[in-house]
Amino acid sequence: MIRLENVSKTYFTEKGAFQAVTAMNLSVEEGDIYGIIGFSGAGKSTLLRMINLLERPTHGKVIVDGKDLTSLSPRELRRVRQSIGMIFQHFHLLSNRTVAENVEFALEISKIGKKERQERVQELLHVVGLESKASSYPSRLSGGQKQRVAIARALANRPKVLLCDEPTSALDPQTTTSILSLLQEINRIYKVTILLVTHEMEVVKTICNKVAVMENGHLIEELHLADKPISV
Ligand code: ADP
Ligand code: ADP
Repeated sequence: MIRLENVSKTYFTEKGAFQAVTAMNLSVEEGDIYGIIGFSGAGKSTLLRMINLLERPTHGKVIVDGKDLTSLSPRELRRVRQSIGMIFQHFHLLSNRTVAENVEFALEISKIGKKERQERVQELLHVVGLESKASSYPSRLSGGQKQRVAIARALANRPKVLLCDEPTSALDPQTTTSILSLLQEINRIYKVTILLVTHEMEVVKTICNKVAVMENGHLIEELHLADKPISV
């Protein structure tokens, strides 16, 4: 579902060139919950952001669902990006929109009719357990609830892939467990392939079936933990 071929990323700054990711090869299969673990600065976030081309690789190919994203026109890329959802450590919700509007917003961009939009928002809020908060603003929610909204929003366009950048790093252990089991449920119900980066070993051990370890921009080890995502 996701294949990286010899992918490198060099950032050019005033201080000179810095290679954040070096010649990485990675293969994530459909249905995997794949973890990438490493210390801060290892290049995990850069790697994840190259998978939807939020960052463009300096070298190499990024193939998602059979398409080489680095070769697409801007228009084709916009379409393919809809099949890739993303969530962040700090949620990135729109503070001036309600929970339901945050989820619906993702669908307005993709020009889906009002009725279908509202049905999908309802379904997703049900799946993440936040129907009762549909009209609340993000500032009224706990961290775990905010991440649930972000997950609903990321799933709005029915993506095949969900990219998770430190999804539980801002959450307490109990909330972390509940978000991880939600991610697992989503993997199962919607058949979404999940690629998750984290510095927390516990997260990887809880839900991932495969793990890659990153250090200084290199993939140094890959472990196969189970054939299928592990059940919590
Ligand atoms: P991680 O997610 O593992 O913490 P990052 O991918 O965020 O790692 O960062 C990897 C390295 O690349 C770090 O040294 C970071 O300072 C550097 N870096 C990240 N983004 C940029 C950028 N936009 N410009 C320059 N350097 C960057
Ligand atoms: P995290 O929540 O994963 O720690 P950061 O706060 O480090 O994320 O932000 C990662 C990058 O994404 C930053 O450069 C930030 O400006 C950018 N960003 C902020 N909001 C969004 C958004 N809604 N979608 C995509 N990228 C965003």
